[in-house]
Amino acid sequence: MIIMPGELKGLSPAEKFNRIRQKEVRTLHDAHVYAKDQKWTKLWGALGWIMRVLTGGKVKSQQDAYITTIGNYIFYPAGWRASQASEPDCAALRHELCHVRQYRKLGFGNVWLGFIIFLFLYLFVFLPAGLSWFRWVFEREAYREGWYAAKEFDLKWRPRLGHYIDCCTSYRYVWAWPFRSQVRRWFYKNCQ
Ligand SMILES: [Zn+2]
Repeated sequence: MIIMPGELKGLSPAEKFNRIRQKEVRTLHDAHVYAKDQKWTKLWGALGWIMRVLTGGKVKSQQDAYITTIGNYIFYPAGWRASQASEPDCAALRHELCHVRQYRKLGFGNVWLGFIIFLFLYLFVFLPAGLSWFRWVFEREAYREGWYAAKEFDLKWRPRLGHYIDCCTSYRYVWAWPFRSQVRRWFYKNCQ
């Protein structure tokens, strides 16, 4: 992390976002930020279709409403612009950068090789829906980073652990790890 303690104090959310983007996204992680209507637009429709099939139609909003990270490209929802970035958008950068780091680690430094390995583990171990050990492990690590980023970036906004718990146990991540008490215990122990 190269954002210094107090460095973002007093800045507007969009100014914070830009500083983090320059220093951490570009310089530290060699990653890029786009909105989903700026690049690879056909992919989001296909992803939305896959999500609807896997969740039996529970995911109703289009896939371009979510943040998605593919390799070292971070995509914010369609219509989103950095000049209007909010405080949650700042914390979300750390969540997504955590995935970029996970890809690099899995690919022995190669972000695209790692992304393919990540996808395999994320989707097929153990099951695409209902019991996905790696989806749970990868997402909880990313959520923990977002949690601490909110403090580190001097945000007034704070994430809610209840939201993390809901996401990891519900259709939002295709029931990654549906054991709510276990998920709750992990978050309360690791996000202080
Ligand atoms: Zn994630």
